[in-house]
Amino acid sequence: MQSYTIVDAHAHIFPEKIAKKATENIGRFYDIPMCHLGDAQELLRRGSAIGVRRYLVCSTATRPDQVEHINTFIHDQCQLHPEFFGFATLHPGYADIEKELDRALALGLHGVKLHPDFQRFDIDAPEALPMYRAIADRRLPILFHTGDDRTSFSAPHRLRSIADRFPDLVCIAAHFGGYRAWPESVEYLSPCKNVYFDTSSSLPFLPREQAETMLRGFGAQRFLFGSDFPMWDHSEELQRFLALRLSEVERERIFHGTFEEIFHLTV
Ligand SMILES: [Zn+2]
Repeated sequence: MQSYTIVDAHAHIFPEKIAKKATENIGRFYDIPMCHLGDAQELLRRGSAIGVRRYLVCSTATRPDQVEHINTFIHDQCQLHPEFFGFATLHPGYADIEKELDRALALGLHGVKLHPDFQRFDIDAPEALPMYRAIADRRLPILFHTGDDRTSFSAPHRLRSIADRFPDLVCIAAHFGGYRAWPESVEYLSPCKNVYFDTSSSLPFLPREQAETMLRGFGAQRFLFGSDFPMWDHSEELQRFLALRLSEVERERIFHGTFEEIFHLTV
């Protein structure tokens, strides 16, 4: 099989002590059995099996008092594993967002991951707006969990209103722009020039033709490949991705080209 240069642009890691519990909690929330345990060594083992060279790693603070601890943990993991590319966590209820963002930058983190469903806020909630302004001012992208057919915290139409309101904010809408909300993702996010997408946690559910139509409709140049580790197995996700009828140019773009463009680097 041909080998590709791959960036896993959506992976979760947890401190070893809580990896088991955190992984189980996510599995319960989505009612999906987790493929793996979310620790760094396991991520590297699974990813390297398919040729992943860089991993965008993140973890979510479900409460404001967890923010600093998690950001320090992500930084420490990036020091230990040069393959890691760390994203910070934040929370709209966190008291001094500007200060923590500056600390995250000083720690070498490259963006912010938000999970509105775990953090229980609407993407377009008024209390979240100062956070977006502060993040955009520092030219950091936000990786948003998007979509849930049981709640509307992270609904694509809410992300649309933020993307319109902050045209200088780079947004990455995970899960093809809306987990189990794919028609809404197409309807609202197609025209947003500042919204990218990732492939994670979607290919097991999206019929192949629908995935191909969305990829072509949004454009491969707006897509990143992501595993959502520990949810899915890298080898299986790669197989699902390669089953899509895409050109080699499109594949290379999604595997690493879009990532390189957003972060101005070469993998
Ligand atoms: Zn995620």
